[in-house]
Amino acid sequence: KFGEVKLAPPDPILGMSVAFRNDPSPDKVDMGVGAYRTNEAKPLIFQAVREAERRILDDPTINKEYLPIEGLDSFNRLARDLILGSDCPATAEGRVVTLQTLSGTGSLRIGAECCKAFLNPPCAYVSRPTWGNHNTIFEKAGMQVKSYAYWKESTRGLDLEGMLADLAEAPAGSVVILHACAHNPTGVDPSPAQWDQIADFLATKDVTLYFDSAYQGFATGDLDNDAYAIRSFIRRGFQCFVSQSFAKNTGLYGERIGALHIVTANRETSEKVLSQAKIIVRASYSNPPKHGALIVSRILSDPALKESWINELKDVSKRIIDMRHKLVEELTALAVPGDWSHVITQIGMFSFTGLTPAQCENMINKWHCYMLKNGRISMTGINTSNVAYVARAIKDSVEN
Ligand code: PMP
Repeated sequence: KFGEVKLAPPDPILGMSVAFRNDPSPDKVDMGVGAYRTNEAKPLIFQAVREAERRILDDPTINKEYLPIEGLDSFNRLARDLILGSDCPATAEGRVVTLQTLSGTGSLRIGAECCKAFLNPPCAYVSRPTWGNHNTIFEKAGMQVKSYAYWKESTRGLDLEGMLADLAEAPAGSVVILHACAHNPTGVDPSPAQWDQIADFLATKDVTLYFDSAYQGFATGDLDNDAYAIRSFIRRGFQCFVSQSFAKNTGLYGERIGALHIVTANRETSEKVLSQAKIIVRASYSNPPKHGALIVSRILSDPALKESWINELKDVSKRIIDMRHKLVEELTALAVPGDWSHVITQIGMFSFTGLTPAQCENMINKWHCYMLKNGRISMTGINTSNVAYVARAIKDSVEN
């Protein structure tokens, strides 16, 4: 038994965290995993989260009973309005199905299972490159995964032409996965005008859209702006899947809190879709965990807590932007060869540095600067104490 099982490679992202933890070097810098760190390199618990937890603890009406299969009703409504907007026409028409999920990954997996079961697409299209787990999730849900052009090395920007050309080839019924904002790993998003162009084009195609929103609040620092693509596609009449994660924007990584929204044609279809989605959830984990849903629900329903959360989220995204500028200043001061302006123009948590795999190896092995081998660094690992060191590591890696 089990003799045929082959050893799998460690997960490229989470494996990096393990390597970082085991490295005894006092100089080590964690730019691997996409979790926010303060300027003191510490995890952050938002003040609104602390306060919400205090209130939950003191609330005698709260118990530890199971949630329904689809999750906490108040959370589902508030999460939906946060991402789709409180004036979403599809919501008003009763054609949005919402389920609380195990963060963004759980949402993607249940969404992918629903997509396969309800629509049986010939293939799923992900951006090239994308967050590695997209490939695995859609494959495990039984779909053939293909990719569309996204990153243009020559401009270190969006390859819109290549993207549309690849999607033009998508067989009828394909599902197209789009990063709602703060694209991982490139940090490059379409502008609103480019989103409109993508929407004009996709309107001519028989495809299903699947938005992955893991960074609302991290792209422009404004929750509504960061939902532009999703909201404008829905206003145009697109039906779609939306996977929403609260991991990054509330710092509730380990609470596994997220949602899946499915925008269908009408109320009657939505009822059927919800009933089938519930069977998939029931067979996966029965019902979602409660604590994170209670926290988010408290924050989003209390104006003062919501304001505190939004302000702290703005500080978080501002620190990342500051570090982008600081890093480029240091690189410029050291006269590191190449144009590094993309580090500033890229959006969200990551920078796709353009470092080659060999240069990345040097960053990790010689300098203890942990990052992905595709050149992605998490900007949140950089702070005022280590930014000069990181710049020196980049200089050495680029020059040798
Ligand atoms: N989608 C993308 C693009 C991501 O970067 C992430 C987090 N790394 C997720 C989804 C899901 O993360 P989580 O399951 O922690 O919400």
